[in-house]
Amino acid sequence: MKTKTAYFSMEIALEPGMPTYSGGLGVLAGDTIRAAADLEVPMVAVTLLHRKGYFRQVLERDGWQSEEPAEWSVEEFLEEMPEQTTVEVEGRDVQLRAWRYEVRGQGGHVVPVYLIDSDLAENSDWDRTLTDYLYGGDSHYRLCQEVLLGIGGVRLLRALGGEKITRYHLNEGHAALLTLELLDESARAAGRETFTHEDVDTVRSQCVFTTHTPVPAGHDKFPLDDAMRVLQRSEIPGMQDVFCFEGQMNMTCLALNLSSYVNGVAKTHKEVSRMMFADYPIDSITNGVHVRTWTSEPFAELFDRHFPGWREDSFSLRYAFGIRYEEIFEAHTIAKDRLIEYVNREYGASMSKDVLTLGFARRATAYKRAELLLHDLERLKGIAGSAGAIQVVYAGKAHPQDTDGKEQIKRIFQARDALKDHVKIVYLADYDWQLGAMMTAGVDVWLNTPHPPKEASGTSGMKAAINGVPSLSILDGWWVEGCIEHKTGWAIDPGPVDNDNRTAQDAEALYEKLEKVVIPLYYNDRDGFIEVMAHAIALNGSFFNTHRMVLEYVSKAYSK
Ligand SMILES: *Cc1c(COP(=O)(O)O)cnc(C)c1O
Repeated sequence: MKTKTAYFSMEIALEPGMPTYSGGLGVLAGDTIRAAADLEVPMVAVTLLHRKGYFRQVLERDGWQSEEPAEWSVEEFLEEMPEQTTVEVEGRDVQLRAWRYEVRGQGGHVVPVYLIDSDLAENSDWDRTLTDYLYGGDSHYRLCQEVLLGIGGVRLLRALGGEKITRYHLNEGHAALLTLELLDESARAAGRETFTHEDVDTVRSQCVFTTHTPVPAGHDKFPLDDAMRVLQRSEIPGMQDVFCFEGQMNMTCLALNLSSYVNGVAKTHKEVSRMMFADYPIDSITNGVHVRTWTSEPFAELFDRHFPGWREDSFSLRYAFGIRYEEIFEAHTIAKDRLIEYVNREYGASMSKDVLTLGFARRATAYKRAELLLHDLERLKGIAGSAGAIQVVYAGKAHPQDTDGKEQIKRIFQARDALKDHVKIVYLADYDWQLGAMMTAGVDVWLNTPHPPKEASGTSGMKAAINGVPSLSILDGWWVEGCIEHKTGWAIDPGPVDNDNRTAQDAEALYEKLEKVVIPLYYNDRDGFIEVMAHAIALNGSFFNTHRMVLEYVSKAYSK
């Protein structure tokens, strides 16, 4: 392959001990790079250091969230590079260094990741904080960070040298300012001092943009006067058609205008994105997870016994059909016991290993609707009493400024107390990589209840699938593609809904499916339940992984 791709992402989950990610976007970025390394795709990745992480979630007795910095020891994980560069922020020179992390593929191929750091003595106290907090601070702080990531990132790659980069992959709009640096390079190559519309075509042919959410908060925009103050680029006002939407500098618009390939992260998300951005051709590449990373130990041992090549080749999970049901259930039981022992030891949850366990872990924010299961507590009690016992493990952080999300966690604590003799509920604090791995492998059914069509893809249900945990989910995001009813899991599908009453109707559909289908299958037809587990691995694990996903990026976007 001749092309080399530079993958830019505001967050990348590289190791459980490095808090350089907040959630799904960062985990996907890490899983992408891990798969690229396995597949020996020529790639280099760029992100910010996030010396103080996203945050550590502390939950009070009543469920109220507070945040603490997630400090970590940078030197323990990373190697400092001798090359440095500078970017201008509000007319000041900010000195940047890079720390190197190596993602090594199964066959030894390395994808280097460079984490940009502005904490240098030459910089002002404020500039030194710019690579501290992921999604922290205000809009101005974010804009300055994006200058470091986009413009600083390209300059660092130039300083580091190495093979010529032919593709720039913008994983979400945060890195869109990299196009500004490429526009400058194009203008210079043409012997001009400033870039013009002529340079746009040159840059566009080099860039690939993946949009990740239909939710407006996920699309950065900045007041034009702040953008002008920070960037001091006199060309921008004359090129508002490229940089702006409704008078604001808009990173999504910039990325759309300067990319020759644009995709959403699932088929439904493509349709939604096309409605949002009608003027642009938008394709879809459905997300995946990195199988080796998210397979629990007992399933890794099981796969080793049955299809030893699975670490190199995620497609081989299709052979899960050949595994005896007892072996699948045995592996699952080990993973489940670990989770139940953990919640009982750390949280005094007094949960039982024999009770059907539901898992729900996502960012605590309105559209994810963590409370859908708790919509009618009497109904839920009734189901547990008549159809069969259930228990629920919850986790998820709210963004520090999302007061609604924080209230949501508190209400789940209240429901936990109200249900305590009927349905055991535990809410685990500080949801992260390790908890995600333990939960997606350790519960019996993975629950997902977003408000459609706001779930672009979702990936935690894919982690569950490779560990033989079926999903019970609203038909949105990846589940529209992944759900084969009663084969790979179950849809929460109320049929046509009227939007004012949507939550009640979705809740009723969820209760029905639990009461009539999932609980009876689990308790009365164990082989039938394990058959669904096996299909989840064979049909969904073998497809919704980043080996398949990265190959699609290579053929549709990187090598065109
Ligand atoms: C996988 C993962 C996510 C993303 O899961 P969604 O289903 O997209 O919500 C978020 N956070 C952590 C810690 C994860 O491991």
